[in-house]
Amino acid sequence: MPDTPAAMPLISMLDSGPADIVPLPPTPDAAGGGDGGHSQLVIVGSGPAGLTAAIYAARAGLAPIVLGGSAPGGQLMITSEVENFPGFPEGIQGPELMARFRDQATRFGTTIVDADVDRVDLSARPFQMWAGGSRYTAQAVIVATGASALWLGLESEARLRGRGVSACATCDGFFFKGKRVAVVGGGDTALEEATFLTRFAPEVVLIHRRDQFRGSRIMQQRAIAHPAIDVRWNTEVAEVLGEEVIEGLRLRDTVTGREWVEPIGGLFVAIGYRPNTEVFRDWLPVDAAGYLEVIGETGSAIEGVFIAGDVHDHHYRQAVTAAADGCKAAMDAERWLESQALELPTAVAVSG
Ligand code: NAP
Repeated sequence: MPDTPAAMPLISMLDSGPADIVPLPPTPDAAGGGDGGHSQLVIVGSGPAGLTAAIYAARAGLAPIVLGGSAPGGQLMITSEVENFPGFPEGIQGPELMARFRDQATRFGTTIVDADVDRVDLSARPFQMWAGGSRYTAQAVIVATGASALWLGLESEARLRGRGVSACATCDGFFFKGKRVAVVGGGDTALEEATFLTRFAPEVVLIHRRDQFRGSRIMQQRAIAHPAIDVRWNTEVAEVLGEEVIEGLRLRDTVTGREWVEPIGGLFVAIGYRPNTEVFRDWLPVDAAGYLEVIGETGSAIEGVFIAGDVHDHHYRQAVTAAADGCKAAMDAERWLESQALELPTAVAVSG
């Protein structure tokens, strides 16, 4: 067996495709999309899991393509201060952290395409994925599509979204300077958003449907002790009031059913997430909550398809655990690709 440079896995030398991405001009294929390119590894998703997988895969010489979505970066793009990501003792803004992930991935040869994957075909290798009107092919795929923010599901909430109703305090908090705002939810996201909004709002009403928060103890203590945060236990939003912009909330006591109206200049919905599995649902099994089922550490029901991050993890759901998952998936994918390539010389010897 010839010596293989550490940064050049065997499969790169044996696979019919080039090790580096060759950007091809868009040409129509059988499915009607242009040819986006081929890589040993395509990573779907560009949050901490996807980009960490890209950093590891790129450093291993796999020249991965990341299909990062039309709103790349994942949930940290709508997170304010991140205080628990190791290496940032002073904390870091979520979008800045993701920009650093991205820079690190591209530095080692990752190609990032900011387009949504509309369709995949995982029936045979190379696997096929369509994004932004182009078809991408890969021998291995890492699914790291994460999860998206949930909404309350009220008609009035949908109507006033972007007109005072938001799921992103980091993005929109500044616009509510001097206003009395509300946050719905009792998890870490709601507690964090409520605390963050006190930078702009003189009063933050934190609305939770139970009498106990779900979030971490330190975040609970911080929110409850904050003089500008007014916690409403056992309360839910019955209706968002206002014609053109939000003017108030009709609230309901979840124990007694009593309803009342309060003037509110902004509503931040922070009630959790839904895993982004739509395009993979026909191919990969999901659990009762809709999250992808993992086999072993990062494996899936399809050989060569790996899973990382919040799209399967509804327990830890941290940027650092998603990043660790991305690392594991990239290492597993790289080893799997190598194991596939190592079978090739034997087959060639037999047939020759
Ligand atoms: P979560 O932990 O699932 O909490 C969702 C909250 O919203 C719960 O309190 C839930 O109430 C409430 N809720 C759900 N549906 C509702 C509805 N229809 N109406 C009213 N309330 C509703 O979600 P999360 O806060 O987004 O956190 C997700 C994960 O990310 C967690 O593991 C969290 O620790 C992590 N996270 C970490 C950080 C950080 O470390 N800096 C920051 C943000 C999030 P019930 O309690 O009654 O179910």
